[in-house]
Amino acid sequence: MLSEKLLNEMNDQIKHEMYSANYYLAMAAYFNDMDLPGFASFFRIQAQEEQMHAMKFFDFIDEVNGRVQIKALDEPQNDFESVESVIEAALEHEKFVTSRIHLLMEIAVEEKNYPAVSFLNWFVDEQVEEEATMQDLLTKIQRVGSKGHVLYLLDKEVGSRQPE
Ligand code: MG
Repeated sequence: MLSEKLLNEMNDQIKHEMYSANYYLAMAAYFNDMDLPGFASFFRIQAQEEQMHAMKFFDFIDEVNGRVQIKALDEPQNDFESVESVIEAALEHEKFVTSRIHLLMEIAVEEKNYPAVSFLNWFVDEQVEEEATMQDLLTKIQRVGSKGHVLYLLDKEVGSRQPE
């Protein structure tokens, strides 16, 4: 059972996770265009993960007899200035998603909704991982800069990520 407030916020979260998927697909398309197939593959896999996050909320709402509402998505940014600016944008976006998860957790704790707290714990941990992944990528790209050969090697390494 979800309060109306928590249900609304969780339905909004489905939207945010689906928007994240589209945003990362836009980044994947940018990397394809830049001839960086490893980065493109990484962000394509990231987009799939975001769809999975949305479905976790979809299933949880359904399990506790809530009504899922699918909302409209804004168009994500499609053009970027540099490889580094894309990773910066991805890190900023994950920080925003973390703030959303924390907001949901605050409501669940305040309402003593322990099933929701338990469900959201997974996302709290996941966000620590997501931010660390993007931060790590940003540090690497800042070291490499636009040096063609090293960027090529980094692209190969980044492209070794496998779907979970
Ligand atoms: Mg997510």
